[in-house]
Formats: sequence, structure tokens, C-alpha cells
Amino acid sequence: MNYFNEHTVIFKDGDFVSAKDATTDLYSQTLHYGNGVFEGIRAYDTSDGTRIFKAKDHYDRLHYSARMMHIELPYSSEELEAITYELLHKNNLKDAYIRPLVYLGSNMSLTPTNEVHVVIMAWTWDKYLGDQRLRVTLSPYQRPNPKACHVEAKVVGHYTNSILATTEAKQRGFDEALLTDQNGYVAEGPGANFFYEKDGVLYTSPLGNILSGITRATVFELAKELEIRVEERHFTPEEIKTADAAFFCGTAAEVAGLEAFDDYVFPLAWEESVSDLIQRRYKLRVSVNEYQSLHI
Ligand code: PMP
Repeated sequence: MNYFNEHTVIFKDGDFVSAKDATTDLYSQTLHYGNGVFEGIRAYDTSDGTRIFKAKDHYDRLHYSARMMHIELPYSSEELEAITYELLHKNNLKDAYIRPLVYLGSNMSLTPTNEVHVVIMAWTWDKYLGDQRLRVTLSPYQRPNPKACHVEAKVVGHYTNSILATTEAKQRGFDEALLTDQNGYVAEGPGANFFYEKDGVLYTSPLGNILSGITRATVFELAKELEIRVEERHFTPEEIKTADAAFFCGTAAEVAGLEAFDDYVFPLAWEESVSDLIQRRYKLRVSVNEYQSLHI
């Protein structure tokens, strides 16, 4: 995958610069120890022009993540949103994935770093997990212990856990992994939150051991509009094997339906599930700017 070409412009520390000429510091604390924070955002080509979906929520979460890691972010959420629109315009991008990254200057000690860099990059990216129903497996890896790090912060180093889980799942022939928390309850995917459906009700893990997904919050909103009940509760991997349907959700993955969890094939036809209603409503929600409570 080429993330940029010779014409691509990125935002870097106050300037728009050519991606191919941008450089970084090999002594960066982010590179050595994973201390940096980032976001994953999408812009959609809506009926009313290019719109960044829930930009403020994403940039507020970037601020939260930075704060948790003792990083001082030199831009407000509003400024970052305005910069991102300019970046999309400069790159002539309409439907795009946007990656803001806050990384640090040189510091080989385990102390906060004063030198803070902000880059924002954007590229065209299809649904991260594709459009096919996914075959998912229970990961032998657990999500990071919330007493070991701030799990609700989107920290660069946390993603080594995600890479291990996805790699291990793919090595066993699955599309994606599902991870438990430190108590053995289901937590989330390596880069997406998880819901399952049973008798028309959606179940998802409560906050505490998972990233507080902005797509997850959107699913709550859509379920309310569609009068679908959602329950946040702890559940075991075994309980998923009684579900009718299930999906992952995240900015990059959007709403991605599951075909099977290990040897258990979800029995309900996707088109008959409330999960499908959520998936279709999500598409509408992100792509119609003046979205109201439309009923499909
Ligand atoms: N969990 C993890 C571990 C993630 O990386 C992501 C993607 N940011 C999500 C959940 C979904 O979050 P969001 O809906 O805000 O993209």
C-alpha cells in the first residue's frame, strides 16, 4: 500500500510540506518506547461536500490521550479540525482516512518529553476489514491491563498488542482476532469494538477495558433511533456462541459483520439482523450531512 505519492502534502508542525521530503528524528522517544498518541478519522464525500465525521470527538480524544501521557498538545481541537479540512483540500481528497500523530523529540530516558511534534496525514483507504463477513477467532492475547496503562487513550505503544493479536489470528487462517480483558471477559478487537446480537438486542462490553470508540458511541445513537435495545455488560467468549449475529465497529472498519466466531457460525441471515440495520444506518449517518431521523 502506498500511503503517499510525489504530490502528497502533509501537515507537520505548523506547515504543509511534501510527504516525500518530511523527515523525523531517530532518537525520538516515540520510536524507541512507543510514547506518542494518534487518531484515526474519516472524511466522507457527502451530499453537502466533504465532511469529517465527528472531528471534534476525535480531536478531543487526541487531547485526552495526550494528557494521559503527559504530552502537551500545542493546538486546540478546533484548530486541528480546520487544519485537517485544509489538508484534505490541498490533497484534493474527498473520501479519506485521516491520521493525526503526535510524536516526541529525542529523549532516551523514561521521562516526559517537551519537544512535541504534530503531523496529520490523509489517504484514500477502503473499509479496513473489507466488505466480506469476517471469520474471527478468540485471541490467546488479552488487551492491556487498565492498571498497566490508560486503555482509553489511543497510544502508539498499545498497538503492539493489536499487531500480535491480528498476526496470530491470520497465521491460523482467520480474518481477525477478538481479545479478552484481564478477567477473561470479551473486550474488543485489535482495532475495533465488538457487538453481538441476540433476539434483536445488541450487547457490548462496558468501558473500562476497551477504547471508548466513537463508532461505538454512534452505534448507540443509531440503535436509539431505530428502537433497538443495547446493553453494556461483561460476557464470556462462550456466550458469543449463542448469538444470532455480531459485528465489529470502528472508524476504519466502519460496521463489519461477522460470519463466524471460531467454529460457531452465526445462524441469522445478515439481511434479517438488526446488525444489518445498524450497518446501513451508519453508512447513511456518515454520508448524508444533513442527516435527520430518516427511517429506512
Ligand atoms: N478499539 C481499538 C483498539 C481501536 O484501535 C479502535 C480504532 N480507533 C476502536 C476500538 C474503534 O474506535 P473508533 O470507533 O473511535 O474508531
